[in-house]
Amino acid sequence: MSENTLPSRTFAEKLDLLAEVAVKVGLGLKPGQELLMTASLDSLALARRITEHAYRAGAALVTTLYADDESTLARYRHAPDASFDHAAKWLYDGMGEAFKSGTARLGISGTNPALLANEDPDKVGRANRAVSIAYRPALELITRHAINWTIVASATPAWAAAMFPEETPEAALAKLWDAIFFTSRIDAADPVAAWKTPDAALQQRAAMLNEKRYSILQYKGPGTDLRIGLADNHLWLGGGTTAGNGIYCIPNMPTEEIFTTPHKERADGVVTASKPLSHQGTMIEGIQVRFEKGLIVEARATRGQQVLDKLLDTDEGARRLGEVALVPHSSPISASGLVYLNTLFDENAASHIALGQAYSTCVRDGEKKTPEELAAHGANDSLIHVDWMIGSAELDIDGITAAGAVEPLMRKGEWV
Ligand code: ZN
Ligand code: ZN
Repeated sequence: MSENTLPSRTFAEKLDLLAEVAVKVGLGLKPGQELLMTASLDSLALARRITEHAYRAGAALVTTLYADDESTLARYRHAPDASFDHAAKWLYDGMGEAFKSGTARLGISGTNPALLANEDPDKVGRANRAVSIAYRPALELITRHAINWTIVASATPAWAAAMFPEETPEAALAKLWDAIFFTSRIDAADPVAAWKTPDAALQQRAAMLNEKRYSILQYKGPGTDLRIGLADNHLWLGGGTTAGNGIYCIPNMPTEEIFTTPHKERADGVVTASKPLSHQGTMIEGIQVRFEKGLIVEARATRGQQVLDKLLDTDEGARRLGEVALVPHSSPISASGLVYLNTLFDENAASHIALGQAYSTCVRDGEKKTPEELAAHGANDSLIHVDWMIGSAELDIDGITAAGAVEPLMRKGEWV
């Protein structure tokens, strides 16, 4: 269908469609399922639309946990020092219980990328670590895809202002909503149907790489000369997943990546980030690291060095890779030319790698394996999982087979 035959929709109609797509395509919510949603108060409008669509899809109960930026800042300004080693363990335990009993999970992403920029990096690091420890058992059920889950984005005033500092608050917010609607395919005549073709294309690309069975990926570009060994029995995934409860879900909206598990002891060389990294309310820019036998032995950032150091010191696995992902430079998100300062978008605009925890689903039969068995295949283990973008229009990637044959995979950021 051509553009001019598309119905012109009001903002309220688009917001409603985004909620419908999140529930039907992202979650695949089934009648009788409970839904646990997290959102910020600035995302209330979308959270309400999602709640309505979830009930119309037959949800037994929708429970939403709202966060508030001002309340978060109040903690950093006024809480006793010991507060920052503390997390609401009872809450995360409860989330784990919910997932074990089949509750679906939806996160609305839309945080202020600079919320904690002026707070003490030590406190930020400690608070993140405390949450990582408390949330770990529940998060494990998510990364293993035991249940259907998804993340969608809501524009918020602070996020929009960080992305479009030259615009008025109203114009910035409108621009960010337009970008979200476009990349989430809400502008299509039938947004639910519009997700099917790209989803199938990602599955196909992953299947092709699973047939190739490369043992090494070799990256070359400005500031980057890196070889990453893939995990033994690694599995490429992309697009939707059938969760352990049998429900098909698309965990990230938008999604443009195919990804797998690298071998935690087989990365060597230097890699330079191609975009700034927004991490838990702070910005890390100009990251360059050097790997030796999978371990980061040198790490520099032109901005946010302290936060980066704290992150890498989280645990042993924080200095090793847990994910490699391939995204063509021409992906719709990248083509928008915007830096979103939000991992959900930026990781789908560029090839990336992630420090920390590996996805057990990216190892053949991984969900049936013990942590020790996964580690033996090379899958990394950590409290953190932080994606950072290394892809650009200047990055070349080769696949190297076990027999040593070198095959071009990407040239100048595009699939060969
Ligand atoms: Zn990724
Ligand atoms: Zn990731």
